This record gives sequence, structure tokens and C-alpha cells, in this order.
Amino acid sequence: MFPRAIARHLASGRMRMSFATLPNTVANVTSVQCKDSVGHFLDRYDTFMFDCDGVLWKNDHITPIPGIEHAIQKLQALNKRVLYVTNNSIVSREALQRKFRAHGFESPLENIFGNGYSAAIFLKDILKVSGKVYLVGGAGMKWELDQVGLESVGIGSDCDNPTSDVDELLKYTLTDNIEAVLVGFDEHFSFNKIYKAATYICNPKCHFVATNNIEKGTFIGEADDRRRMPLTGTMVNAIAETANRKPVVVGKPKRIMLDCILRKHDVDVSRTVFIGDSLKADVGFAKRVGIDSALVLTGVSGINDIEDAPELTPNYVLNCLADIVT
Ligand SMILES: [Mg+2]
Repeated sequence: MFPRAIARHLASGRMRMSFATLPNTVANVTSVQCKDSVGHFLDRYDTFMFDCDGVLWKNDHITPIPGIEHAIQKLQALNKRVLYVTNNSIVSREALQRKFRAHGFESPLENIFGNGYSAAIFLKDILKVSGKVYLVGGAGMKWELDQVGLESVGIGSDCDNPTSDVDELLKYTLTDNIEAVLVGFDEHFSFNKIYKAATYICNPKCHFVATNNIEKGTFIGEADDRRRMPLTGTMVNAIAETANRKPVVVGKPKRIMLDCILRKHDVDVSRTVFIGDSLKADVGFAKRVGIDSALVLTGVSGINDIEDAPELTPNYVLNCLADIVT
């Protein structure tokens, strides 16, 4: 069933070619010489946007994907613009830059767009926030807010002792003049933080911004001891439901991420391709903003997932990023 569906996409031009090893029936349809395909792919674009987790390293954030440094270096040698666009709000751009170096390639800071950075640009430049931000997030997000000159409170464990006693809750410490609540991944997330964030955004003048809300949980651990880890969407939705208010989301697949990039780079979207491992976040983002996309099979989405979400069919499929060095 699914090979026919892929073949249909290929025949219709929706998926123009593939570097990946697809099922035989599909490979027969593509019939593309790999070296020529790579040359065409590289000539077709000036800007290459990369997701990070699942593309540059596996989704455990640690295990490198072989050959990525050669792929990046090749693009740099060809004078291509290489931008990194990630929904990971845990680490700052500076930390990502160090991680790239450890993986064997370099990037200027201005080419890295974590959604913590995009959130900071959005708050400062687009919403024109100048006062305090209540941050439900980690040190990487605080660093990004610091860089754009926004004062934030709330990082780390909450200062009040947890209670469900209403009289005690009413004595909780609240900060005056909070202009925005920003929510990303926070390992210190708690009842108290939900209470405070929801209280601040009960004021309709207080902005409510989230780094993303689609990643709601992931399995971790070995098969015999699988556990479920909450992600950013879990935290965002808990606050949103409590406050009965929807956030403005800045991360992929929302267009705001591209708006933030365009404020920093003069990108021709018609000559840009987005390479990612998630149909929903990466291919979905590319389609929403009108740029081409390539799915790499080293992360969350596989070929079978295209059958389940044909509207998210990418233009290309690669086994891994290193395929472009062929
Ligand atoms: Mg990813």
C-alpha cells in the first residue's frame, strides 16, 4: 500500500526525487543517479535550513550521526548559507555553537535559531515588550532574554512552599508589572509555576508566548523499562488550560519562526530548503511558509509516516544528512 502512495507522490511531482533507499517499486519510479541527484539538489538552493535533534545528532541529544561534519563543511565550501532552526528551548545558541564545534563543524551565532532565541526576538522586536518577563523555562532561555535586554523572573525552583490551601496561595509572592509570560521546557515545572503563570496571564494585557506546544511527551529508556517524559507541550497546555487562554507559539511549525529569521537574514525562500526529521514540525513548517523540504530518516518520522500524513509529503527523502556528500 505505502509504496504505491509514495510512487504516486513521485509521479505527481510532489516528491521530486529521493536519495533514500526506498522500496523497490519506488526506487524504480525515481530512477535517479545518486550523484546527479546530489548535484541538482545542491545547485537548486542557496540557503539550507537544518533542524538539529534527529538530524545532526540522534534524539537522545548525544549520539552523533556519522558524516554530518562533512556535509556541513561541503555546504560551507560551496558558499551556501547554512541556518540551524531548532525547537529545542533547553540550550542557548551559545551552547549549540559549542556543541557544533564538538561535532566537528563551526557556525556563527547569528545562523543559529533556537526557539528560545526566536521567542526573545518576538517579545522584544515584534511585541515591543520592555518590562519583566515571567519565564517558565531553563537557563538557555534566560540567556537569550538577557541578550536582548529583557529582565526575567521565575527560573529554577519556585520560591514558595507548595500548598493547596487557598489562604496560603493568596500569600504567594507575585512580581509586579509582568508584561509577558514565556513558557518553554522547564525541569522545575510545578503546581506553583502553573498557578503564577496562569494568574499573570489572567491580565489580558500580559502577553502569553510559548516556544512550542506540539511536543507533549516522549518515551525514554529501554524496551523493558520504558518511561514517559513530559515535554514542552505538556507544560504549555497545563498553563493554557488553567488560564483558559491560548498562547502565541513561536516555534516550528509556526510562521513566526521564519519571521524571526527574516529579521536577521535576507533569505530568498524560493531558493531555500528545510531539512528535518519530523514531518509535523519540520516539513509542516516548510509547507506553511512555502519552502521546499527534505525528510531525513535519522529521527522521529519514517517513510511509513508519509502514508499517514500525505499532506506532509516532503520534496525529498534522505537516509541521513551525509547523503549530500556523495
Ligand atoms: Mg528534530
